[in-house]
Amino acid sequence: MKILEYLQSYRGKPLRFMEVCGTHTAEINRNGIPALLPPSIELVSGPGCPVCVTVSAYIDRLIELGMDPENCIVTFGDMLRVPGSSISLSEARSRGCSVRMVYSPMDALKLAKADPGHVYIFAAVGFETTTPVYALLVQEALEQGIGNLRLLTSLKVMPPVIDWICAHNSDSAQSGEACESQRIHGFLAPGHVSVITGSRAFEPLARKYGLPFVVAGFEGEEILAAIAALVKLQGQGRVLNMYPSAVTEEGNRTAQERVERIFEPCDAAWRGIGVIAGSGRKLRKEYEAFDAGSASLLEDEGGNPACCCARVLMGRIRPRECPLFGKACTPQTPQGACMVSTEGSCFSCWQSEGL
Ligand code: SF4
Repeated sequence: MKILEYLQSYRGKPLRFMEVCGTHTAEINRNGIPALLPPSIELVSGPGCPVCVTVSAYIDRLIELGMDPENCIVTFGDMLRVPGSSISLSEARSRGCSVRMVYSPMDALKLAKADPGHVYIFAAVGFETTTPVYALLVQEALEQGIGNLRLLTSLKVMPPVIDWICAHNSDSAQSGEACESQRIHGFLAPGHVSVITGSRAFEPLARKYGLPFVVAGFEGEEILAAIAALVKLQGQGRVLNMYPSAVTEEGNRTAQERVERIFEPCDAAWRGIGVIAGSGRKLRKEYEAFDAGSASLLEDEGGNPACCCARVLMGRIRPRECPLFGKACTPQTPQGACMVSTEGSCFSCWQSEGL
C-alpha cells in the first residue's frame, strides 16, 4: 500500500497530529493505526468526545434535578457513568434519582407526552452534530403543545476549543503551555462535525496558526491517507477536505439555520480545561421556558484529583501515562469521563490493548 509505505519511510522531524473527533479516536485504535506509523509520527486525541468534556457540575445538577420527585432525567446511556463531583447518575439512581435512558432525544418527547404529571429533563450534551436534533426536539414540543419537557444544555462548538489548543501550542516553558515535544503539527478535523459546519469552518484557524487541517472519513485507509496528507502539508495553513462524500465547504445549511433559530452562542466550561468564551450554545430567550437551569454550570470541581483527563483531552499525555489507568481506573470503575464513553480516549486505549 503506497500510503503506508510513504508514512513508514518518513524520516523528517517528529510530528504530532491531533484527531479531534471521538469516532476517529475509536477507529484509529480499532484499526491499530498507531502501530503502523513510524516513531516520528504520533497521534494524540483531542477534546472530541462530548461525554468526556462534560464538567462535573453538570452531572451534579442533573442529579439534583432528578432527586426532585416532580422530575425525571432523560439521557443517553454513556452519561449515566460519568463521575460528578462525588457520585455518578447511575449511583444516584440507586439512591432514588429518577433517570430514564433513551437512544434518541426524540424519545424524551414520547415520555413527556405520556406522563404530563412529571417534568422530563433531557441531558442535552453534544457538539454541532447533535445540536440540530435538540433544536428539532424543542420545535416539536412547541408544535405539539408539550409543556413538561426541558433541556439541561451543555452544548459545545468545536472551533473555539481548537483555537484554545492552538493558542496554547507554544514551545514556551510558561506554565500551562505545551512544551516542544507536545506541540501539535496538524489536525484531523472532526468528521461528523464537519458534515454540519462544512470544511470552511476550520479555514480561519488554519490560516491563523499556519497549521494544516484535513477532514477525513472514518475507514482505516481514509484515516491513513489523511495522516499522509498532514505530513505533506507541513508548513501550510490550509484545510483539505478528504471526505467529500459527506462534507461540503459550506456544510448543512438547513441544520445550521435550525440551530441558529433556537440557540445562541454562550461561554462554556470544558472538563479540565475551563471556560472558553463563545464555545457553547444555549437556548435563546424566546425558548427559555424549555431551559432546566443550564446557566451557571461553569465550574468543574471534585472528582478524583489524580485523574489526568484534562491533559489527555489537550493531547499533552497519552492515557497510559495517567497513573490511574488500568489500576483504579477501568471501564468498570471509571475515575474520569475519558474512561466512560466508547469514544473516550482512555476507554478506546483500554479496549485496543485488550485489557
Ligand atoms: Fe482519567 Fe481514568 Fe483516563 Fe486517568 S485513565 S485520565 S483517571 S479517565
